[in-house]
Amino acid sequence: MGLAIASRWFEIEHLSDGVTRIWEPHVIRVMQCNIWHVRGRDRDLLIDTGMGLASLHEAAARILDRPLTAVATHTHLDHVGSLHEFTERIAHAAEAATLERASDNFSMLREDHAVEFVAGLERAGYEVGPCFLTALPHAGFDLRAFACPAAPATRLVQEGDVIDLGDRVFEVLHLPGHSPGSIGLWERASGILFSGDAIYDGPLLDELPGSDIATYLKTMQRLERLAVRIVHAGHDPSFDGARLRALARAYLERRGPGGRSG
Ligand SMILES: [Zn+2]
Repeated sequence: MGLAIASRWFEIEHLSDGVTRIWEPHVIRVMQCNIWHVRGRDRDLLIDTGMGLASLHEAAARILDRPLTAVATHTHLDHVGSLHEFTERIAHAAEAATLERASDNFSMLREDHAVEFVAGLERAGYEVGPCFLTALPHAGFDLRAFACPAAPATRLVQEGDVIDLGDRVFEVLHLPGHSPGSIGLWERASGILFSGDAIYDGPLLDELPGSDIATYLKTMQRLERLAVRIVHAGHDPSFDGARLRALARAYLERRGPGGRSG
C-alpha cells in the first residue's frame, strides 16, 4: 500500500468558549475522533485522545502546558489511543477494565478484519476503503501492527460526578448505548455538551460489541430534552440544540417501537 508519510499528524483549530478541536486528518471518518481541549482557570480538560498513532502530547505541546485532566468519553480504540501519555485519566467505571491492559492488535488494513465488522460499518453508512489510514504517521509504520498501551483510569466517574476546572464545571452524564460506559460532559452554565459517541452528526453505531439499542433509546430520550446550546461530539462537526433534537428524534423513530429497524 503506497501511502505517503504525513508531514504532520494532527490538525488543531481554536473555537470559541476556550475550546480547541484537535483531529487526525489521515484517519478515515469512522475512526477520526474529535479530541477536545478546554481551557480552565486552574486546570485544562482534554476530552478523548484519538488513535495514538503519533504523540498527541508532543503535537499539542503548545496548548498542553498547564495542569491537565484527560477524560475518555468511552474506551473504543479511536478515543483512547494517546490516553497513556497523560497522568490524570478519567473514565466511567463501566469501562475501567478496558483501560487496565493494552488493546488487542488492530490492523489498519480492511482485509485483516472480519467481513462482518466492515459490513456493519458500511451498513451504518460509512465508506471503508482498503486501508483505515490515508497517510502514514511516520516512516516504517507497520499497518498491520498497532495496539494502544494500557492507560488505567486514575479516577472513575459515574452519573452526576463533577469535573471542576476552577472557573468551569462539567457534570458527568452517563449516556450508555453506543458502549456501556459512554459519558457526556455537560457544562450547564454555557450549554456546552461534549457528547462522545453517544450522539454525533453522522452514522451512529449501535451494533458494536457492548452496544445496546434498548439502552441507547433511553439515552436519546434524555438527550432530546437537554437544554443544549452547542454539542461538541466524538466525530464530525459540532451542532446546535435544534440539530441535537433532530438527530435524537431520528434515532428514536428509526430504532424505537414501531420504527424502521434498519
Ligand atoms: Zn466509539
